[in-house]
This record gives sequence, structure tokens and C-alpha cells, in this order.
Amino acid sequence: MTAGALTRLGILGGGQLGWMIALEAQRLGLTTCAMDASPKCPAARAADALVEGELDDMEAAERLAARCDVVTVETEHVDYRLLQRLEERTRVRPSAKVLETVQDRLKERRFLAEHGFPQTRFYELGDDQACADAAAQAPGATIVKGRLGGYDGKGQARAETPDGIAAAWQEIGRAPAVLEDVVPFVKEISVLVARTPDGAVRVFPVAENEHRDHILHVSIAPARISDAVRRRAIDIGVGIAEALDHVGVIATEMFVLDDGEVLVNEIAPRVHNSGHYTFGACVTSQFEQHARAVCGLPLGEPRQMTPAVMLNLLGGLWAAGEPDWTRVLARGPAKLFLYGKTPPRPGRKMGHVLCLDDTLEQALDTANALHGELASAAAGQ
Ligand code: AMP
Repeated sequence: MTAGALTRLGILGGGQLGWMIALEAQRLGLTTCAMDASPKCPAARAADALVEGELDDMEAAERLAARCDVVTVETEHVDYRLLQRLEERTRVRPSAKVLETVQDRLKERRFLAEHGFPQTRFYELGDDQACADAAAQAPGATIVKGRLGGYDGKGQARAETPDGIAAAWQEIGRAPAVLEDVVPFVKEISVLVARTPDGAVRVFPVAENEHRDHILHVSIAPARISDAVRRRAIDIGVGIAEALDHVGVIATEMFVLDDGEVLVNEIAPRVHNSGHYTFGACVTSQFEQHARAVCGLPLGEPRQMTPAVMLNLLGGLWAAGEPDWTRVLARGPAKLFLYGKTPPRPGRKMGHVLCLDDTLEQALDTANALHGELASAAAGQ
């Protein structure tokens, strides 16, 4: 690295995203220090150092900042006020302002509305009157989502009719919430954009995402969408990165409707599960790209070299004990990533398999076959 370069990267959060950032950063000659409550977190396996502390521990965060040139996040659930305080002493990328905007679903929806980005209709829920008002306006099925702290469908409840909105809000504990019209999408996609401090932007190929029980099941890249939808989605993803003045990788999850319209579902100002395919399928992975962006280095080439399908490995696959990984390793086009987490609770992201092949269909066949085998083994069949 050249003199004056930012080479010491701090990562708030030590999960699998932090682990893969640390792996890639290390290869670039950067040093990493992660902060996590557990010394056994996935990132501890690859980071040069670990500061132990919960994500709201200001004193621990200051110790992290003291040993780094730049601090980043691997989760959007770091309180933006903690980041504001860190900004007084070091570079924080993405900024506290970005986190403030996206970690509250209502602020996120208002940001999208103010900038004219397309999204589903939403209503604020905070008291019984707001619930009644929303019920009077909502045309059909809706989803209540807690404003703070939700991920993978947590803190969410669906109401099939407007009459059910009050009960759905009750189901999430009457926490401050946003109510959204259910979108009749034909596909879910995500756009991952990397942006540097001086505004250079590179975009990864759009991924197509299938969820099961609100959790990402597979990502298929490149997405099977028209050129018009692809261009629209990329315009929106880049527009959001620019409107936020984001630095680093940022993922925007979107719904595609049958008429080709694209609506934003959610923004994650970080590397993202739907971009795991880039680590193996692209010239530069999202993790390397993020490290480059936040350290002020030139961005890498995001071009995809081979069709890819990423299959998440959730804790339920451990129901009959540690799966027999030789099933995966015996498949030529499959690469195994295990995060080293314990215990393997159902729904917990434990690892993923990346299936690379000459065609998407072949990669999908491998992913489906592997999932079937691993699920059958977990069910004791
Ligand atoms: P989220 O936690 O907002 O990312 O939601 C998780 C998943 O729930 C999404 O990927 C969709 O599959 C589904 N979902 C969330 N919001 C909506 C919506 N407004 N309409 C239809 N499906 C939704």
C-alpha cells in the first residue's frame, strides 16, 4: 500500500459478513479488527484482532476506532448515535447519517418517497387511531413491520384484510411500525452498488432472490430479467447510493411486477447475502469491493465470470447432526462456505454453497439437488 493509505479497517459486527470482509481485506494487505460480543464469532477466525463488546458498547467502539484508520459496519443495526460519536474521532464509512436513514423503516420509506424512488404504499402505525386510519385506506392484504431492528421477517406480521391490521400490529407487540401494501411481485431482485468517497461507482450483476419463510433461500445471478428491468433496477440502486452519499457496498432489494415495474423493498447499506455469489463468481467480490471503497482504494472489476447460484445453509439442516459435507465437496461445481457458528438453530445462517456452472440451469440443478439431499439427511431419510 502507498504511504498515507488507510490500511487498518475496523468492522462493527463479527458475523459471516465481517468474516468474509476480513478474508478479502487480508488478501489485499489490509489489517482488520472486528468488534463483537463473542470471541468465537465468525470474523474472529480471519480478523487480525477482535475487540470484545456488544454493538451498543461505546467504550469498546472507541477502542476499536483507536486502532483503525476507518471503521465500517457489517450490520445496519448499529445505533447511528454511536456512529455519530465515532465520527468525532475517525472516518466512519458508511456515515452515521446513512445508518440513521435506513435503520428505521419509516425514515427509510420517507427518504425513498422524498427522492422519488418507486415503492409500495405505506402507512405509519403508532396508535389505535393510526391503525384505524390505515385500515380505512388499505385496499387489501398488508404487512406490518416494526420500524426498528427487524431482519429476515422478524418483527413482521401479515394482515390478509384491513380488518386484521389491528391484530397484526398486536402480534408484533404494538411497537412503532410501518404498514405496507402486499406487493404482487413476480420476482425479487437485488442490486449491489459500490461507491467510493469521491463518488466512483461500480455495480455488480443483478441477482434474483428466492425467499422461504422470509429468509433468503437461493440467489441466482445473473437475474433472469429483461434488459429494461435490469437498467431500471440499476438506475434505482445507483440513485439510492448517490442520494445517500453512501461509501462502501450498498444493497437494494426490489420487487419486479408483471408489467416490468420495479419497487424498492429495502436498503441494506452493507455487503449482502444476495451478493455472496460474487465471492467466487466475479473478478472482484463484494467483500473486496467494500474494503476497497471504505479504504479509499480504486474499485475492482465487478464482472461475473460464470453463472452462479448461491444456496443458503440454515441451521435446520443440522437437525440430525453436522451434515456430511462430502456430499457437497463431491460435486465439482459447488464451493462450500461454513461460518463456524454454534449452535445451529433453525433459521440461523450457518453457511452457503456456491454452485458455478456453464449455464444457470445446471447451477440451479446442482443447488436444488444438494438442498434436497441435505434436507432429507437432516430429516433422517
Ligand atoms: P423484508 O424483511 O422487508 O426484507 O421482507 C422479507 C421478505 O418478505 C421479502 O423479501 C419479501 O419476500 C416479503 N415481503 C416483505 N415486504 C413485502 C411486501 N410489501 N409485499 C410482498 N412481500 C413482501
